[in-house]
Amino acid sequence: MSIPSFKPTREAYLEALTELYQLRKKPISSYQEMQPYFPHLSQKQIELLLKTNRLAKHLDTSDKTMYFATPAVLIKNSYHVLSLTPIKEENQFTLSYSTHRRTPESYLSKEYIVGDVFTPEDPLPQYAKEAIDYAQNEWQDSLQKIDKHSKYFGSIEIQDPKNLTSLGHPKLKTRVYWKSNSQIAYKDEKVRDLYATCNSIEGGELHSAGRGSYAFYCTHCFTALALDRCNTCQIPFKDNFFRSAESGTLTQQVIKTIQASQSKAEKKDLSFQRPSNKEGSQKKPVKI
Ligand SMILES: [Zn+2]
Repeated sequence: MSIPSFKPTREAYLEALTELYQLRKKPISSYQEMQPYFPHLSQKQIELLLKTNRLAKHLDTSDKTMYFATPAVLIKNSYHVLSLTPIKEENQFTLSYSTHRRTPESYLSKEYIVGDVFTPEDPLPQYAKEAIDYAQNEWQDSLQKIDKHSKYFGSIEIQDPKNLTSLGHPKLKTRVYWKSNSQIAYKDEKVRDLYATCNSIEGGELHSAGRGSYAFYCTHCFTALALDRCNTCQIPFKDNFFRSAESGTLTQQVIKTIQASQSKAEKKDLSFQRPSNKEGSQKKPVKI
């Protein structure tokens, strides 16, 4: 049994994984750079991964990429898959985000399995068991099985009709991922059963078996966009023929989720822009 060498909080781990997801690829050259993404592995295991991958560079195979599992943050008995590829320079690697996968044990019962196909021959990627056990041990309270509360799920594109693309379509401001036992939970205040997040890693876990429904809402007034305008803000835009129109206004819970996500992103931008000094105080949160 492996002994993990450090224990980030769920939030710190989620932040690291989200950053990798956004970058898609990241150059890596040391154990220290690998560590934030593999809290379930010991230093020895991570160094062995790098050594094995370094050796793979010299093998006469077309694909030298290796795949490894890393912990999930929301769905029980599931895991994310990252990949490591050696690059030309000695001791240089590319770490990439690959995907999220559930197991049959992620479901409360078979009746909730929609979209995922499992066969007994499906091999788990390396360290999947360690990743599943780690999440279970470290943030058990945040993990859920797929059950009636995940019967309906989807994405809400929050778009800005005041900020158009060169083709005249509203730009994407953010995306909300949700699940519920109600199809209209995100726009019906009477429905209390809703999980909503703007985080792409959590969203990936909610949607890894299928995309679910799509909806399009205005970032200024939080009402549903028509095909070619926001009727509330009275702003027209070009129909891209991909969207479906619906009516309604997002619930307070969804609006607060969007606002919290945007406020967090703005704070991150501010601390990133702040010039560094010798005391290293740029790591402190910036008060605004
Ligand atoms: Zn509007």
